[in-house]
Amino acid sequence: MRVLVINSGSSSIKYRMFNAEDFTVLAAGLLERVGEADSRLTHHWLSASGEYGETVYDRQIQNHREGLMLVDAALAESGSLGSLSELFGVGHRVVHGGEVFHKPTLIDKTVIEAIRKLIPLAPLHNPANLAGIEASMEHLPNVPQVAIFDTSFHQTMPQHSFLYALPYELYTEHHVRRYGFHGTSHQYVSKKAAEHLGKPLEGLNIITLHLGNGASAAALKGGRSMDTSMGMTPLEGLMMGTRCGDLDPAIHFYLWRSSGISNEGLESLLNHQSGLRGICGVNDMREIQHMADQGNPRALLAMDMFCYRVKKYIGAYYAVMGRVDAIVFTGGIGENAPRIRKGACKGLDPLGILLDDEKNESRSKDVFEIQRTEGSVRLLVVPTNEELEIAQQTVKKILPSTAEKS
Ligand code: ADP
Repeated sequence: MRVLVINSGSSSIKYRMFNAEDFTVLAAGLLERVGEADSRLTHHWLSASGEYGETVYDRQIQNHREGLMLVDAALAESGSLGSLSELFGVGHRVVHGGEVFHKPTLIDKTVIEAIRKLIPLAPLHNPANLAGIEASMEHLPNVPQVAIFDTSFHQTMPQHSFLYALPYELYTEHHVRRYGFHGTSHQYVSKKAAEHLGKPLEGLNIITLHLGNGASAAALKGGRSMDTSMGMTPLEGLMMGTRCGDLDPAIHFYLWRSSGISNEGLESLLNHQSGLRGICGVNDMREIQHMADQGNPRALLAMDMFCYRVKKYIGAYYAVMGRVDAIVFTGGIGENAPRIRKGACKGLDPLGILLDDEKNESRSKDVFEIQRTEGSVRLLVVPTNEELEIAQQTVKKILPSTAEKS
């Protein structure tokens, strides 16, 4: 039994195929530049010897449907994985589920139309995700397919947490509210943390910090999202690689009045030219650390600002939950940058958040703890795995529905 996870972008298809029983990765790949003359598929597969092989296919791929046909051909060429039509199921990552989708959902025509209706909330992402879904439904009409939404995990937030202090009608008539993103990652790492701590998730209060190029924090009570830093869009909250995070909305009007910048110009400024890049010119944290080591003051400032924001959210979510059992660091930065973890926890001793400098320097592919023994809050580094979470949720969703049919 095999399950395929598809993360479809506007000009790319990322996929990972798992054994649906033990969730071993059987194959994975990335098709880039769909619709251009120089499309490229880089395909990896698990060989009989237990090693992963790699094949690169350079050929023009016009659209997502042709892309899936190439993935199918690549799978057929790489050993005994069979064809995509023999799959147990397909899980699709979908960025925005609005208030419509609270959980993994079996895809049919109605679901596709509902995702399409949500395009105004995620004009860049949902159409790209839909392109992958529609191609896959057409190519594999007999395989059950499930949509897993980035937003659905946060649908448990209470109104006082997800509403903006705007006229209430903007919520009821225009769906203006906080939705939150990275839900699959927050959910996955919180489950892993509970497993590691040997305690039921239902009894734990956890702050999860997904710190990657995009970054978000979440306050999870008993495994349910109470609050999260990203908002109606993924622009709000923490400082990110190129996104500004929290901002006084009046800056928008000020810039428009003083420089005549257009809406499109502002959208690009806040999404692509801000965050770490806005402060020091670079958005990659590894490079920024290197620049800081060379004494670059802007790189140091960017790191300080990044840590300061994370710390502010830890404080806020501590207050929201009243008691915190664990703080989880994940994402490229959260998993690999001890300096950032240290900066984020600095000065939080009165809250029982005590980082152990030596443990903080450890590296592992598994969960590890970085708090001092006298700290009351467990500090964990948990590698995220959104594809695995999607695969597991897909199997869980399909199993009862196939049992019902038989
Ligand atoms: P996304 O999935 O949002 O694109 P990732 O979760 O892959 O991003 O995280 C990317 C970020 O992680 C980059 O800023 C990168 O520099 C940072 N990162 C990865 N490895 C390290 C490392 N060893 N030290 C510091 N930062 C790292």
